[in-house]
Amino acid sequence: EYILLSADVGATTTERILDELHDVVDEKLLRDRADVKDELKRIMVDILDENPKPEYEYPLVIMVSGVNGVGKTTAMGKLAKKFKKDGKSVLLVAADQLTVWAERAGVRIVKQAEGADPGSVVFDALASAKAKKDDVILIDTAGRLHNKKNLMDELGKISRIVAREMPEATYLNYIVLDATTGQNALSQVDVFNEAVDIDGIILTKLDGTAKGGVVLAIAGDLEVPVVYIGVGEGIDDLEDFDSEAFIDAIVD
Ligand code: GDP
Repeated sequence: EYILLSADVGATTTERILDELHDVVDEKLLRDRADVKDELKRIMVDILDENPKPEYEYPLVIMVSGVNGVGKTTAMGKLAKKFKKDGKSVLLVAADQLTVWAERAGVRIVKQAEGADPGSVVFDALASAKAKKDDVILIDTAGRLHNKKNLMDELGKISRIVAREMPEATYLNYIVLDATTGQNALSQVDVFNEAVDIDGIILTKLDGTAKGGVVLAIAGDLEVPVVYIGVGEGIDDLEDFDSEAFIDAIVD
């Protein structure tokens, strides 16, 4: 219980996991500490694996949301580099501050000026992506949360434009969460989930002391998978999420 709570798994999910563990221990008459630990890990991995990562084909449009400071800009730069490394042609549709990451990743960027209508920028960017036959289009969104209605309007509008202009594309919504914010991340997913269906989580800052256990609560309650993890500030510090390695890091 202490391990789970200190890893930010949260009270409700911790209770669920331990109840299940008690049942298994009784059922299988487990007495050995190592066996109990293995069962604990299996229960936790199963919770995460209940929500498989989204599958996709190209062209792929990813809309990335997240509140300011969670590492959204960094994550988009890393994602751009990752797809580029796989030989894909990538277009960033983003605010000015992403220009430097576009350069680092070696990808094109269509800039979204402060205050400009995000809908029209996305429209222009998709036209450009179609002309250049880009494989991956990464769309940045405003990180302001102070006005829920604005946020919903913006995300809804972008989604409609993508669906209309690129119906052939796989379209995914990713939310970026900071592992160091603990249970707060749960309410962030809630807010964004009201605006759009979230397909996946990019969990950042797992290179520090934070264990990111809140994703178990998110997986259990909100049924959203973790797709990538951020493990540093460098452009290559993005890894595919591996549920077993992640749970080992929490429990061991
Ligand atoms: P944004 O406001 O959400 O766009 O956040 P930024 O991308 O500007 O990142 C905020 C801060 O977090 C910056 O100092 C980043 O270097 C740092 N950061 C982002 N991702 C990671 C990560 O995975 N690990 C660490 N240690 N720092 C990160």
